[in-house]
Amino acid sequence: MLAKVYSAAVYGVDAYEVEIEVNAASGNPVIVVVGLPDAAVKESKDRVTTAVANSGYRWPKGRTTINLAPADVKKEGPSFDLPIALAMIAAAEQITLTDFAQYCFVGELALDGSVRSVNGVLPVALEARRCAKKAIIVPEANAQEAAVVEGITTYGVRNLRQTFEFLRGNDTLQPVVANLRMEELPDYDVDFADVRGQHAAKRAIEVAVAGGHNLLMIGPPGSGKSMLAKRIPTIMPPMSFDEAIDVTKIHSICGFLSEKRSFLTLRPFRSPHHTISDAGLLGGGSNPAPGEVTLAHHGVLFLDELPEFRRSTLEVLRQPLEDSKVTISRASGSLTFPAELVLVAAMNPCPCGFFGDLKRECRCSSVQVQRYRQRISGPLLDRIDIHVEVPAVQFKELTATQPAEPSNAIRERVLAARVIQQQRFESTPKTRCNARMGSKPLKQHCVLDESSLELLRTAMHELNLSARAHDRILKVARTIADLEGAPNIDAAHLSEAIQYRTLDRNLWT
Ligand SMILES: [Zn+2]
Repeated sequence: MLAKVYSAAVYGVDAYEVEIEVNAASGNPVIVVVGLPDAAVKESKDRVTTAVANSGYRWPKGRTTINLAPADVKKEGPSFDLPIALAMIAAAEQITLTDFAQYCFVGELALDGSVRSVNGVLPVALEARRCAKKAIIVPEANAQEAAVVEGITTYGVRNLRQTFEFLRGNDTLQPVVANLRMEELPDYDVDFADVRGQHAAKRAIEVAVAGGHNLLMIGPPGSGKSMLAKRIPTIMPPMSFDEAIDVTKIHSICGFLSEKRSFLTLRPFRSPHHTISDAGLLGGGSNPAPGEVTLAHHGVLFLDELPEFRRSTLEVLRQPLEDSKVTISRASGSLTFPAELVLVAAMNPCPCGFFGDLKRECRCSSVQVQRYRQRISGPLLDRIDIHVEVPAVQFKELTATQPAEPSNAIRERVLAARVIQQQRFESTPKTRCNARMGSKPLKQHCVLDESSLELLRTAMHELNLSARAHDRILKVARTIADLEGAPNIDAAHLSEAIQYRTLDRNLWT
């Protein structure tokens, strides 16, 4: 007797359909798993047979062959337990379930037959819908996650027996309805109003968030760099539904969702420690998992103490910053993860932190200062559009009674600038903000008049800027004009954008 069921497995950020066949034949009692399964899948045969027995069903007594197809793709993890068990019971009990093929199943089994949660249920549900399945049956704990996908029914199950009896028509299950709520204005417990002074840094942050530009803050310890960075989420534009699905998918694969937080509507803000490994930052491992750059997709990656990161780690950041995605190569082929992020980095000007400070003396030798800065390479700096100094706060600013501008007011301006960009890039849905403009739209939307052209030419020459820096200055100038609602880039917009590139030249040469 042959039974066939469907499941899906995650590869990268997407899932692909897997067909599971169980054949119960006569002969010696042996279970063979074929179709390139990994150790976790092979182990599952013990779990599955025990769970089947403890649920009160028979399993095939003779030679049992379990085939996972397509055979050429490696299948990993325990999420096939549930479909394998169902097919085994059907084969052993000689029951033909007419609409077995209409379902997609995932779930790990405990020895007592209960169904445990698995990672990556959202991409699996998306794949099931693509394959025109009628319903997806998932662990109860993952049901909210799967139910996000419209156009396919989701059932959450607690154990194997409940699942099989439902398929047989002896039990009923209620479809799960997703609790989808796109939060318009979430409540943050921090606000830009908390930060005194630092007008230049706040302005730079506003420009960066408005156009999706990368930002580097340089200043002594205690000047408020991380305080500023932590408040960036409070002025970020809301995610679209599709962006929220992208972000939720990534967190689903990593197993970071919970029943209460099954749909992510806030842009991610990731701040990995400087001891992070290359694989932790970029993604990797034998079964490549997304790294911090992918977890920051559609959001912010904050790297505090930038020079403390290993130089090799910083170098590998260049590719995602350039391409908005990260490619991981391994023996069986390469894998691509999305990484469309805004990089926000912070650093001290020198090892002691007080280089250039008017009040405190820097005790570092010029060689030490140089070595410290050289940990950040020119090509990486080139990819950071905005460099801004965050000096120590003046006493009179700390004690000022006038409150600083609240996040809401800044956010309004950011949103207005984003609306202009949405209209600008309406015909190119992959470009969401000025920072992601390709070279053709750049020529179209960043036209300079004669005097601005001259200004840019001089700056390029005097600051010895690269062609990449040239394009990035234009994009930042476009954002500055958008913040003002100006249709054309004028000399003032351009000067501000150029000024954001001067700091590195002063510090790095
Ligand atoms: Zn110093």
